[in-house]
Amino acid sequence: ITDKLAALPADANYFSLEFFPPKTAMGFSNLRDRLDRMARALRPLFVNVTWGAGGSTATKSLELAEICQRELGLTTCLHLTCTNMSRQLIDKALEDAKALGIRNILALRGDPPRRAEYRAADEPESTEEEEEEFSYAIDLVRYIRKTHGDYFCIGVAAYPEGHADESHPLGQSLEHDLPYLVEKTQAGADFIMTQLFFDIEAYDQFEKRLREHPSRAFKDIPILPGLMPIQGYQMIKRTTKLSHAKMPEALMARLDAAKGDDEKVKAVGVEIISELVEQIKEIKGRTPGPQGFHFYTLNLEKSVSFILERTGLIPPSTPELEEAKLAVPVPPTLQVN
Ligand code: FAD
Repeated sequence: ITDKLAALPADANYFSLEFFPPKTAMGFSNLRDRLDRMARALRPLFVNVTWGAGGSTATKSLELAEICQRELGLTTCLHLTCTNMSRQLIDKALEDAKALGIRNILALRGDPPRRAEYRAADEPESTEEEEEEFSYAIDLVRYIRKTHGDYFCIGVAAYPEGHADESHPLGQSLEHDLPYLVEKTQAGADFIMTQLFFDIEAYDQFEKRLREHPSRAFKDIPILPGLMPIQGYQMIKRTTKLSHAKMPEALMARLDAAKGDDEKVKAVGVEIISELVEQIKEIKGRTPGPQGFHFYTLNLEKSVSFILERTGLIPPSTPELEEAKLAVPVPPTLQVN
């Protein structure tokens, strides 16, 4: 990703698309076709593949990452969580990613670590090693750098409205997160991707705080704001509740007015997210280099395509790109256990 960014003009915009591994073979087959279509039509700079907390989707995430990276020739960023995962599982995930030609990892904490007080009475005590090795995302960033040097380009997560961690006395607070985000960045993160948000004021202030932070840790680092296309009225209610992202009243009123008509809600959603993209482009003044956007697609195609078209984010196709696509060989399937 960093190599691709270095090749872009400073005033360019770019985007990534996030996908999660489906549960069934049919789901995989459908998603593969959709990904192929989306890659050709939309030309993302890279795609993200999510990782189930505790490694619950390890095999399927690697399978989807293989489709993206090797079959479709897309620059792929594999998410990797570190809590409730053994070191062996993390080592294996990194080795498997390497074998697939993946050079990008989004290093995440995942669910809060299981500590003694959360453990069910009949569950065995975890070893000291498990307890201590991976408690926060920074432990994973350091571990990847220690074991793989600069082989992987590493991204980390950030939360414009603060990370909602119930275990923390300050609750949801950017104030609380900032020192740790500085540490994650200084430990070797190459880019930052944010939690989804709808409140442009919150993002503006977050980005400003980072860029102007006295540590200078965020002076040059690419920050990709996370945006989720609005797919339905109930869904957006659930999403804002789960992500703790605030929906500004004026935007909610527009969605309320369309409530009851799914197609209308989606259309208003396209308008809202497109406006956010344009507003972010305007505050780009503070950001050195190209401006990225990250879209949580929920594996869906239409809304994100409309948003990208409307905001002019789709890069033009070049003859070289077309040729390169044709030249991507379909490799033999790599068995990932
Ligand atoms: P951390 O950076 O470790 O931060 C977690 C909390 O701990 C924060 O409140 C922080 O302030 C605090 N903290 C950090 N370090 C310390 C310290 N040393 N001492 C005390 N407190 C500390 N989850 C998945 O399971 N799979 C995915 O694929 C996935 N993809 C994601 C993609 C993006 C772009 C984002 C934003 C989130 C994603 N998540 C995913 C969710 C993520 O795993 C959770 O939000 C998780 O609770 C926090 O992860 P983190 O990497 O931000 O954690």
